[in-house]
Amino acid sequence: MKQTCRLCKKNEANQTGSHITSAFLLASQIGKRGNEKSFLISTDPKQNYLEDRKDKDVKEDYILCSDCEKRLSFIENIFSAEITNKIEVEKYSQNYISVAAETGIYLNCNKINPIAFHLFFYSVILRISISTQSLYNHFNLEAELEDELSFLLDLFLPVVINHKVAQSVDNWEKMVEYCQDLFSFFPYIVLKSRNQSNKTGNYQWYDNVSKEPYHLMLNEYIILPFFNSLVYEDDFFQLKDHISYVDFLNNSYDCVKLGILENELYESIIVDLQDQATSARLKEIRKEVIGNLIANNIPIDRATVDALVEMEVNKLNM
Ligand SMILES: [Zn+2]
Repeated sequence: MKQTCRLCKKNEANQTGSHITSAFLLASQIGKRGNEKSFLISTDPKQNYLEDRKDKDVKEDYILCSDCEKRLSFIENIFSAEITNKIEVEKYSQNYISVAAETGIYLNCNKINPIAFHLFFYSVILRISISTQSLYNHFNLEAELEDELSFLLDLFLPVVINHKVAQSVDNWEKMVEYCQDLFSFFPYIVLKSRNQSNKTGNYQWYDNVSKEPYHLMLNEYIILPFFNSLVYEDDFFQLKDHISYVDFLNNSYDCVKLGILENELYESIIVDLQDQATSARLKEIRKEVIGNLIANNIPIDRATVDALVEMEVNKLNM
């Protein structure tokens, strides 16, 4: 039986192939729609991380209704037209005012409708949270937060009549301006790597431990939702010393700040994630090797374990 749409909570979730993280956000990393190339690294040492998984990890059936899918596309189009397509193009540089904070630089994006910008990131975070795909299923907002976000999105996304979005962008912008007092704001920081020439080695990473703030890496973007409190307690990406976070924080609906993540810093986060994935896989192999020795009544000593682990690693080509 199909579920109810996780956004409007009214219609049947009839949409197949919903992109959890909008296709255009990932295009520079995994390739254009229909032509994707992607790899999954899990802590399971037996999982083949060299297998090209194309787009199967980033899509999911029956979590949204087709109307909500269209409403989300509306917001995605506003975001991609103003941010994705223009931010790295010299002639549009006046659309983004560079501000030097005490530590780090952020851009004030002064052309995009602020509510569209926020709704876009909220919708990405919500979809990651509700997805059961292996890439996303360990990242979960608290149920109450999920409800609040879907309520806000449902309230502010454009109106659909007869399965068609019934508002133009102008008309929708007038509506949200009129209703802006109803917009409950969830603070967050979003950072983007600086004009990376090649994004195919980028990562998607959704941390399952950090909550203050949550930690998400999505191709060239890092999103830090301060949805539980304004305290910067968890520092999984070790960014705290590189940004004066109070300045970078989007903390009201009318501001749109996009932090700049220097490429060196971005790369150091990737290296760190790779190290952590490798060490988690090694730990699993070690556990298995020791288990086998015990099962076969072979005395356990460090040298034997090390040698067997090395043999397994060579087999896996880690
Ligand atoms: Zn819906």
